[in-house]
Amino acid sequence: MQYDLVIIGAGPAGLTAAMFARRNGVNVLVLNSLEQLSNLALSHLVENHPGEKGIPGIELLEKMREQVIAIGVEIKDEKTISIKKDKHFIVKTEENEYECCSVILATGLVSRKANIPGEEKYLGHGVSYCVLCDGPLFKGKNVVVIGGGDSAVSGAVQLKEMGVKKVYLIHRRDEFRAEDANMDKMKGKVDAILNSVVEQIAGERFVESVRIKNTKTGETKMLAVDAVFIEIGYVPTAELAKNLGVKLDENGFVTVDENRETNIPGVFAAGDVTSKPLKILVAAYSDGAIAGLNAAQYACDIRGKKFERHLY
Ligand code: NDP
Repeated sequence: MQYDLVIIGAGPAGLTAAMFARRNGVNVLVLNSLEQLSNLALSHLVENHPGEKGIPGIELLEKMREQVIAIGVEIKDEKTISIKKDKHFIVKTEENEYECCSVILATGLVSRKANIPGEEKYLGHGVSYCVLCDGPLFKGKNVVVIGGGDSAVSGAVQLKEMGVKKVYLIHRRDEFRAEDANMDKMKGKVDAILNSVVEQIAGERFVESVRIKNTKTGETKMLAVDAVFIEIGYVPTAELAKNLGVKLDENGFVTVDENRETNIPGVFAAGDVTSKPLKILVAAYSDGAIAGLNAAQYACDIRGKKFERHLY
């Protein structure tokens, strides 16, 4: 067998799991899909990390990667396409196949689609799900942000700070659900349009306008904009889990017990893909540590190796 443990996903939960498992003597492979980078990599500035007043997400993630590589964890940029339970687990990527004793799913979340006519057509031509990646392209231009949570509100503020001329924030209800700190930052910077939905995204090659509809009055109007940022939450990346027979909750998140083990012995899950309510960085660390220790123990039991459960 090539590995004791294979971890799918190289975000904070996956890398923390790798660190705790490796420090307990098991050999660990982390598989990282370049098609779905950790959302931490897209975070402009992380301000809720103990010990760091504000650090770009990408910098924090890079530090984590360096730390686990230094202790002997292997990270491969390969997209996982299936996991099968045979005598052991067989994890198949687009390039290779790996056999292992235990698996941790740390596959995270992806942006929710709004299913607006024009959304798919103009993706990369003005439609974006990532303020941090694409915002700077629209300096001096007018843009729309869709959503009413922290991603939309903080994204709208970031766009303004990036030099976007006018930011319209379109929310389907009459009140936002973003936290007060983000709401305060938005004041005077963003034009909020409430009780409204975007019905159509239009243009020639690139986005040129959106049609919005007031859900209370039924009135519609056109807004001339160069970009539409869709920030309406996330959906779990749980396809691999589902195909393996892992139990999901009613929203498609992986269900785990207190050891972060799924209904399939030897398959663990950690971080945002699980059904835990607190989807924040420090919770991902905690999850990763618990999953890493228990998956390492599981692998040692299979191998007949002594497991001492070092917590340092
Ligand atoms: P949320 O699920 O919190 O909010 C999604 C928003 O999009 C809601 O306002 C929702 O409307 C709206 N929405 C959902 N579907 C549609 C649709 N089809 N059309 C139009 N609008 C839609 O997601 P977020 O990404 O904002 O946040 C996810 C988590 O991450 C939250 O826990 C958040 O607090 C956290 N976060 C925290 C940040 C921070 O700075 N502290 C920054 C970013 C995220 P409605 O309100 O009507 O349901």
